[in-house]
Amino acid sequence: MAFALISVILLIILILIAIKTGLNRGHTTDEPTSQPVIHASGIYSIVKKSPRENVHSKKPSREDIGKYLSGQNVDSEGAAITEEEKQLLIEQWESGIEDSIKTIEKGDVEGIEFYYYEFLPVDCPVCHNHVSRGKFVTREEIFRYPDIIPPLHLGCTCKLLPHHGKEKLRETTELGMLPLFRNQQPPPLPDWKTITKSAL
Ligand SMILES: [Zn+2]
Repeated sequence: MAFALISVILLIILILIAIKTGLNRGHTTDEPTSQPVIHASGIYSIVKKSPRENVHSKKPSREDIGKYLSGQNVDSEGAAITEEEKQLLIEQWESGIEDSIKTIEKGDVEGIEFYYYEFLPVDCPVCHNHVSRGKFVTREEIFRYPDIIPPLHLGCTCKLLPHHGKEKLRETTELGMLPLFRNQQPPPLPDWKTITKSAL
């Protein structure tokens, strides 16, 4: 009886290994390198690093923004900006970046591979021509291009949300869900200096 049980367990383990090998092969067919599996696991471990450091080195600091805003009197639509609104823009920028970082850190714990763009609580008139709602990026793209982490400019309402149905996204069959990247490059993004007051 015990022997039969062990045999069954061994058989299950063998089947699992066979399935896993098959899956790995499926992922790496377009990579004719000699050690594709090691390459993939290497990327995976780097990707899991918190984006905090990279984001802060790519995005302007609080000081940079304060300095820039002190010389600005109107937003991108010509509406006057008060001193109070300038402070709000700085706070909103900082909390927006923190939200994005937390979303990705939490996603890494949960094994999220895809994120999509959403605009909350209102649409962003500046992002309109750059990033549309529902466009998705992979965790690896976020790692390689931290610039794509929102907010994308001052007053931006763009958010990055985790997507749990990764298989659907991979096939891009879900309505309105298209990749942000083309030919492995992100599209031109708004200049961080472009100001909108739409969410103040
Ligand atoms: Zn925006």
